Amino acid sequence: MEASHVMRIYLDHNATTPVAPEAMSAVAEALRTTFGNAASVHVPGQQAKAVLEEARASVAALIGAEPAEVVFTSGGTEADNFAVRGVAEACEASGRRHLVASAIEHEAVLNTVKALGRRGWAVTLVAPDGSGVVSTGALAAVLRDDTALVSVMHANNETGVVQPIADLAALAHRAGAIFHTDAVQSVGKIPVDVGALGADLLSLSGHKFHGPKGVGALWIRKGTKLVPTMTGGRQERGRRAGTENVPGLVGLGVAARLAREKLPVEQARLAALRDRLERGVLAAVPGSAVNGAGAERVPNTTNLSFEGVEAESLLIALDLEGIAVSTGSACSSGTLEPSHVLRAMGLTPHRVQSALRFSLGAGTTEPEIARVLEVLPRLVARLRSLSGAVARAGERG
Ligand code: PLP
Repeated sequence: MEASHVMRIYLDHNATTPVAPEAMSAVAEALRTTFGNAASVHVPGQQAKAVLEEARASVAALIGAEPAEVVFTSGGTEADNFAVRGVAEACEASGRRHLVASAIEHEAVLNTVKALGRRGWAVTLVAPDGSGVVSTGALAAVLRDDTALVSVMHANNETGVVQPIADLAALAHRAGAIFHTDAVQSVGKIPVDVGALGADLLSLSGHKFHGPKGVGALWIRKGTKLVPTMTGGRQERGRRAGTENVPGLVGLGVAARLAREKLPVEQARLAALRDRLERGVLAAVPGSAVNGAGAERVPNTTNLSFEGVEAESLLIALDLEGIAVSTGSACSSGTLEPSHVLRAMGLTPHRVQSALRFSLGAGTTEPEIARVLEVLPRLVARLRSLSGAVARAGERG
């Protein structure tokens, strides 16, 4: 049970973010007033269609796209499934039956390519280097004449490491493959411009940038061959069937507008706070290290390992102090599965097991970071002395 006096510090924004008040009001307003089915020809239907298109324009503006290229989905997972399965099916007849993904993708991509692998597709996973970057050399080594799709995420959810998407996409295109990037963890945190990235498909998700859960989009470059995975009605220009979640998507549109307006200031503010946190931890906690430190990263994320400490124990100790962090991706937390991302980077098993992710967001403040820096060194020292005591007791038998 939560003690009411505990100051709650939420540093798990890569798992999900609190909904921005403006987005919340817009969702409530849409629920109240815009109940029509966006596919209906009458006035209530057209009202719903109008707010939906406004949301689409706002999402498109955030990523430098044309509104017509934005297909709304039920979130990042569906967008990833649509991209991977949609391309696979579209390319099946052409004989291109090879799929490439990075080994550090989110499960939404990884488990989808693996599922296709079990159905006869050739699948290659590309490992990153030690700092978490998927290099063009590593991708070049695995591309084949029959590669249909290359999927490499823009920013990694566990380390925040940003991938060289423009270079990777150009390489994939030279091999005749379609390029998808899961930008769920970069959209709203750093400038994302589909033209500059050069990808063909890009996934995003509302709840990672202060929008509601269960809404997202797949951006599909005009002309990209893709078979719809969700079949049924003609919604979303025949690319994604199902009555649109109008209120949720209105919330996504508002979150996208806010992200676009605030990004330049927020990016610098969060980078300063994150850097302060990192510097403070490295200075005050001996045996701590930043994972992915050598690479370009989104400004809100740091992944830190603490020698001699089990990450789960530290996570619980921090939670008791009112500080919410994560051991990595939310999907695998609770399973004690070591992070596939940190393992793919070649980190030692101990460094993987002692890693915690701190991810900042719009509500994160300077005093919160100061509080973490006050609490964390003490908790790490306590856990180390406890495990030392356990080890000594073990030696005594
Ligand atoms: N891709 C990445 C990189 C993510 O971090 C997540 C969420 O954790 C997803 C995809 C899934 O998005 P959603 O929760 O909207 O299904």
